[in-house]
Amino acid sequence: MNELLESLYSQPGRDHEVSLLDHLRMRQAKPLRLAVMGCTGSIGKSTIDIVRANPDRLRVVALAAGSNEAELMKMARDLGVTRTALAKSTTSMPSGVGALRALAAEEDVDIVVNAVVGAAGLEVTLGALDGGNDIALANKESLVMAGELVMRRAAERKVAIRPIDSEHSSLVSCMRGRTGREIRRVYLTASGGPFRGRAKGTFDNVTVEEALNHPTWSMGPKITIDSATLMNKGLEIIEAHFLFELPASKIEVIVHPQSIIHAMVQHSDGSVVAELAPPDMRLPIQRALLPGGNFQSPLDLTRLGALTFEQPDHAAFPLILVACEALARGGTAPAVVNAANEIAVGAFLEKKISFGAISGIIQRTIAAHTPHPVETEADVYDADAWARKEAGSLIAG
Ligand code: NDP
Ligand code: MG
Repeated sequence: MNELLESLYSQPGRDHEVSLLDHLRMRQAKPLRLAVMGCTGSIGKSTIDIVRANPDRLRVVALAAGSNEAELMKMARDLGVTRTALAKSTTSMPSGVGALRALAAEEDVDIVVNAVVGAAGLEVTLGALDGGNDIALANKESLVMAGELVMRRAAERKVAIRPIDSEHSSLVSCMRGRTGREIRRVYLTASGGPFRGRAKGTFDNVTVEEALNHPTWSMGPKITIDSATLMNKGLEIIEAHFLFELPASKIEVIVHPQSIIHAMVQHSDGSVVAELAPPDMRLPIQRALLPGGNFQSPLDLTRLGALTFEQPDHAAFPLILVACEALARGGTAPAVVNAANEIAVGAFLEKKISFGAISGIIQRTIAAHTPHPVETEADVYDADAWARKEAGSLIAG
């Protein structure tokens, strides 16, 4: 086994891959017990689809959501799940983010699927780490806010973090068989979103409906706006940095409008390995839960047509570089960028600010921040709260 893979297997917390032995073990084993957190959302529902397609191998034992109590209870009834939690206060079940954290920590859970959107997802990740439960991670915000702390704790507690984010899931495949030194560069592809090709300064009249109309992926509203601003790629660079211990200088974004190639790895000899797959999140979800399983809608190469690539337009979409700068500054800076982004995206969705104003709010918030090292959860949450307040007052004017 080569150096990188050896380290992926042997280091807890870096266990993105599963060995042949694990596959055999899983074939004979009882169904894996899942806690699906954020079950009412786009990734949550796709996760349930995968469970339904693999009833002998996957079983949901716990469900949680943000505020949609009726849908959560319906899902629990349909799946025969008795343990639930809701972030919003309610009397019918344990509630508050603390309840989600406790559920993610429960002993008889094998894998926590973290499909919560935004900063609340960090509590779920921390809960899984508290309980030593493996994580199938869609909530990239956890790693953006607290990547160092999360990866350190995962290593200490022997918790595997398997990425659901499609680019990172593909990177695991593309890196297979290569050592760290042999990797010259990794590429995360971006569709370019609905406003690809528009020039800087032409975003003020963009409507919420236009921004939510993603050309290739169907996703929840927050990540759809992140894809339209390209902040999603900034967040993904930070996510890849922490997941794979790659320096930011080796992580590049390339616009690929067809969303068929999700990630590529350039080796030291200049050759590039790419992974092609349909833009369907059920594939990376299944891979995080059942590596090596069959997937029912494989890619038809003859129908693909042209695959094209271009550089991102950093003048029109400055947030990739804003995220990279925050990563370079380190400590609490990425958490501040994440929180300012959540506030600005929320304000745009509520039609309080224009689409074009999102990047300025984030840039002004991070410019006003002096980063501190992240030692504790409180360091992260203090920075998060500060940034929400700062961005909020910038929006209020
Ligand atoms: P959705 O908006 O569709 O779903 C979000 C889920 O989180 C819902 O179940 C929602 O519950 C729950 N939620 C919202 N707020 C809270 C809260 N404060 N506490 C606890 N739960 C909460 O989002 P997506 O499924 O699109 O995205 C989920 C995560 O996955 C994000 O981090 C995103 O970046 C990531 N991701 C998503 C991809 C996609 O294709 N959708 C691709 C790659 C990554 P309720 O319904 O009750 O509000
Ligand atoms: Mg992605």
